[in-house]
Amino acid sequence: MDGLRLGDVIDDYCVKCRRMTNHAVVSILEKAAAKVRCRTCYHDHDYRHETAPPTKKELKQAELYKQVLAGVSSAPEGGEETGILPEETAAGEANGVEEPVAELKKRAKKTSK
Ligand SMILES: [Zn+2]
Repeated sequence: MDGLRLGDVIDDYCVKCRRMTNHAVVSILEKAAAKVRCRTCYHDHDYRHETAPPTKKELKQAELYKQVLAGVSSAPEGGEETGILPEETAAGEANGVEEPVAELKKRAKKTSK
């Protein structure tokens, strides 16, 4: 349990190296790594729990998807950003949702290049 110490080397995702690299623990919070330093480029950052951050493309698609949902679900007065997908429409019976999403995927591919 108390195994983690400053200077320990653990795996994490480095945004500069854009891959999993060895990281030295430089800060510990609640017995878990809080900050780490990439052993390859010496970039300090918060410990990411070995997960890569969403790519710009993914963020863009999520944004587009939100816009589609907002347009299709005819939210009253602009609606609130709950971040929760309406399960009934997501179930697939509503064609109105399926179509624009497919359309967006095409568009996203075009704009990405
Ligand atoms: Zn790095």
